[in-house]
Amino acid sequence: MRYSLLSLVRQAFRGHRGWAPAWRDPEPRPQYDVIVIGGGGHGLATAYYLAKNHGITRVAVLEKSYIGSGNAGRNTTIIRSNYLLPGNEPFYEHSMKLWEGLEQDLNYNAMVSQRGVLNLFHADAQRDAAARRGNAMRMHGVDAELLDENAVRRMAPFLDFDNARFPIRGGLLQPRGGTARHDAVVWGYARAADSLGVDIIQNCEVTGFVRQAGRVVGVETSRGEIRAPKIGMAVAGNTSRVASMAGLRLPIERHVLQAFVSEAIKPLIPGVITFGAGHFYISQSDKGSLVFGGDLDGYNSYAQRGNLAAVEHVLEEGMAILPMIGRVRLLRSWGGIMDMSMDGSPIIDHTPVEGLYLDAGWCYGGFKATPASGWCFAHLLAKDEPHEVARAYRLDRFERGHLIDEKGQGATPNLH
Ligand SMILES: Cc1cc2nc3c(=O)[nH]c(=O)nc-3n(C[C@H](O)[C@H](O)[C@H](O)COP(=O)(O)OP(=O)(O)OC[C@H]3O[C@@H](n4cnc5c(N)ncnc54)[C@H](O)[C@@H]3O)c2cc1C
Repeated sequence: MRYSLLSLVRQAFRGHRGWAPAWRDPEPRPQYDVIVIGGGGHGLATAYYLAKNHGITRVAVLEKSYIGSGNAGRNTTIIRSNYLLPGNEPFYEHSMKLWEGLEQDLNYNAMVSQRGVLNLFHADAQRDAAARRGNAMRMHGVDAELLDENAVRRMAPFLDFDNARFPIRGGLLQPRGGTARHDAVVWGYARAADSLGVDIIQNCEVTGFVRQAGRVVGVETSRGEIRAPKIGMAVAGNTSRVASMAGLRLPIERHVLQAFVSEAIKPLIPGVITFGAGHFYISQSDKGSLVFGGDLDGYNSYAQRGNLAAVEHVLEEGMAILPMIGRVRLLRSWGGIMDMSMDGSPIIDHTPVEGLYLDAGWCYGGFKATPASGWCFAHLLAKDEPHEVARAYRLDRFERGHLIDEKGQGATPNLH
């Protein structure tokens, strides 16, 4: 069933009783060509591109809860491609281009809104770093504008420019960055994958791997054994746990990241704004709520909830650039489990176990990567070779020392 103005009008005349479910609820079959573990954005996008780009439609997405119940439905929805390093920039720009055509491709309103992402800087050295990153982006053909203080004042006059500790000196703007509606991205990919024949199987937890002659040939699940010659893991914060079922130890730690939403207020914040002297970012949802977040809680955990210390830290950083948020009431906060890699960059690769493939290490930046991650993971699963924009995301880079350390701070996953 295609969504269009005509179908909306037609349904309106029928009292909206004719809408078909957006995806089926199939029983798992015993055998598929590919199994994707994890019904978040990445797993569903992978299944969709397997079917669409490679014609592989005997695909199952196995999700232990409901689709989007993990980080895909918990993130603060920022999309951007403002990276410095050559290992990252082409991949994230590929993702940005896919975002730009996503709604037409999926025939689904994912509320992609390119309202700009502005990274503030507060000191000369930070200006230099921002200029360097902006130049690197432009050399890759990506939009970037270095704004001085006056330009930022015109764009966001409500910021505290003269804060004694963190005065705002300017910012690096990516005008094509912005936000997208996270749930709609999950639902859009699910519906489009389902329409190409992919089975989306919810409430189906993978509890082990079936192995034959050393290779993985299937999974044990809460709904029985399911077999496939190729199995892709896209389980984000649960990566280490699922990988350990196949006997793998990965260079990934899990940490909690919290997000916050305020009561709705009139339109104030034009795009996404980030604090440069710490980790705080804010945008305003279409409903009017301020959506913001900051640093990880800083300890390893599988709990999808955070602690008060991080709440205080985030709010203090917010107050440093935007004192007026002290008068806004907080409505909700929640946490998600991040798969923090040792250099802050992701992994899309084979694992040492034959038949098992890995898409992980997204840290707190994986929402923006959803389309490209699905695209490149599907390419790897279909062709057994990495996609050209994901060539750097090898698992063995941690052994070889070819890290993609965007922040240049080494193996400190709690800080990336
Ligand atoms: C608070 C917060 C804010 C964030 N903000 C941003 C942002 O602004 N921009 C950005 O780019 N990124 C952001 N992120 C990061 C982003 O959300 C993640 O990197 C990305 O969603 C991870 O990929 P995913 O969508 O596939 O993960 P998930 O949605 O977590 O999908 C993994 C799925 O695997 C399932 N699963 C786990 N174990 C099993 C099993 N054994 N069997 C079957 N299924 C299993 C889980 O239930 C889950 O649904 C944020 C994350 C959080 C928590």
